[in-house]
Amino acid sequence: MSSDVKNASTFEFKAEIKQLLDILVHSLYTNKEIFLRELVSNASDALDKVRFESTRGTEILDKDLPLEIRIGFNEKKKQITIADTGIGMTKEEIITNIGTIAKSGTSEFIKQISQAKGDTSNLIGKFGVGFYSVFMVAEKVEITTRSFKKDEKTYKWISDGLGSYEIQEIEDDKVKRGTEILIHLKEDEKEFAEKYRLESIVKKHSNFIQFPIFVEKEKVNNVAALWREPKSNVKPEQYNEFYKFLTYDNDEPLSVIHKSVDAPIQFNALLFIPKKYNDFFGYNRENYGLDLYVRRVLIQHQNKDLLPEYLSFVKGVVDSEDLPLNISRETLQENVIFNKISSSVTSQVLSFLADMAKNEKEKYAEFWKEHGKIFKLGYMDFTNQEKWADLLRFNSSTCNDEKELVSLQEYVDRKKDKQKEIYYVLGNSRQAINSDPHLEIFKSKGIEVFYLYDPIDEIAISSLNKYKDFDIKSVDQADLSKIEKMDDVVEKKDESEKLTKDDEKHFDSLMSKMKEILGEKVKEVRESKRLKDSPAVLVNPDNSMSGSMQKIMQIMNKDQSIPEKIMEVNKNHPLMRNLLKIFKADSNDNYITDVVKQLYESALLLEGYLQDPHELVGRINKLLNQSSDWYTSVKKI
Ligand code: ADP
Ligand code: MG
Repeated sequence: MSSDVKNASTFEFKAEIKQLLDILVHSLYTNKEIFLRELVSNASDALDKVRFESTRGTEILDKDLPLEIRIGFNEKKKQITIADTGIGMTKEEIITNIGTIAKSGTSEFIKQISQAKGDTSNLIGKFGVGFYSVFMVAEKVEITTRSFKKDEKTYKWISDGLGSYEIQEIEDDKVKRGTEILIHLKEDEKEFAEKYRLESIVKKHSNFIQFPIFVEKEKVNNVAALWREPKSNVKPEQYNEFYKFLTYDNDEPLSVIHKSVDAPIQFNALLFIPKKYNDFFGYNRENYGLDLYVRRVLIQHQNKDLLPEYLSFVKGVVDSEDLPLNISRETLQENVIFNKISSSVTSQVLSFLADMAKNEKEKYAEFWKEHGKIFKLGYMDFTNQEKWADLLRFNSSTCNDEKELVSLQEYVDRKKDKQKEIYYVLGNSRQAINSDPHLEIFKSKGIEVFYLYDPIDEIAISSLNKYKDFDIKSVDQADLSKIEKMDDVVEKKDESEKLTKDDEKHFDSLMSKMKEILGEKVKEVRESKRLKDSPAVLVNPDNSMSGSMQKIMQIMNKDQSIPEKIMEVNKNHPLMRNLLKIFKADSNDNYITDVVKQLYESALLLEGYLQDPHELVGRINKLLNQSSDWYTSVKKI
């Protein structure tokens, strides 16, 4: 691994890094200028770290050095330098930070980026493989760095980005704290070593860096903290630019929330809701949180406690005067002031969304489409439950298509007078739900039902239990005795004749017979109040849980058994009436057995529990055969 030159050693890059370098250098189509953005942002991170350390009284080398970034260039030599007075690196830090560490998800990132088409510069930034991007333009890079820790030496790191790097120890006590990166540009990229070019790249990508950036002697960026400016001073373009700077998003944000709160606790917040949900490949899960500043000092990048996880789509910055500068990140969560800020930020976001839902319905629908799924996870936030519930949206039976959305409030406003409950049903699609037998009574009474398509919808809505004064129930948990008394809205079809008293008794016996046929498979066979068009349906004996929730729990527990159900039959259905006739003629007719088993398995199939279709298919074929005999005889063919 290492050659034995005095004070110099050669190291191999870790395999993943080699692969990454290879892609960056050879096959990646991207905006090459972003290498500068990445190096400047590393310099800024290093400066943030020094400032952070000095606020807690750590001893710091060259502590009076101004915190700044200086960019120099030499056109003739095709060189660029980027120097910062940041935290610097020890030898061990160079090896781990620059040569070894490949973050979790790197190999996935490599796979994705090598397949990605078009401009990939935002991916590079979002994933933070920043430093290596320098090799898109450099044939050789030298890093000279000195740690802020006293007694550390200066080191030089040199690499051509091919497979290895060298580290030398520099014996020069005059080197000041910080890091300087010297880039030897490739022949093809030499035009980067030019003043105007460098200035414009800095202005474009690094304008909001909180430390002065000089190109030669001139300061090029705007160091003002936008979040501390009065709202009236900030132009929409500035918000957009800052958002892009912060998130590496190419798009503008969907919304901007800029708040300055003075009482009871002072803080400024500049928050953004992105247009698109940003879990860009599903593996960058930790890429969320707000940047927490205390009096303009960055205390924590991507703090994950300022907002609850269900609002993690929100990006931005929070800055407070009231937190102590030397607060430790570890104890933030126990700090009373921090917690007050966090709950205030949370309610600001929720109120903002409530306004949007009220005044900008289309925009809210856009928001819901992108971020609704994560927002629904807010069922654990009991403090804000009411506000959260008001922001939920679902499809419902009254909508014209699957895309339309209804709030709980809208549902309550237009529900039937006598209706005391709010109903929902979970299914795979609008079409599937529309033909669910459980809904027949709701349709006939004109009662609106929320249509849910994702298990998380049911977990969210059922976690509420109640909205305003109304219990929230799955259609299979509804109190049918009340619904039954409500007026029908659908014109009744030719009402089937009422059964005679005598036939009622026979029907009871038929139901006992059905139970006998099905045996242990059902707990009970009983008459249904909910069916209008279907002959039979299965319901849960345990009314404390909906059938769909029971299914979700079973899937989570990897339980494949078929739960015990009650079979409900529709006394007025023509099939049941015929069955009654057959039963009266011969109570042991095999046809009854076939039909009852078939009704049970068809219902199981609808509930999603039928595992082996063989028996069912065999029986259907037999019944089809019988009905074809009948059909040919009727048709006289
Ligand atoms: P990231 O910035 O996302 O961590 P990079 O590849 O850009 O990834 O940088 C890798 C690491 O190298 C940084 O996390 C930091 O520890 C170190 N580093 C890079 N540039 C500097 C610098 N100018 N000063 C101090 N450390 C640096
Ligand atoms: Mg970086």
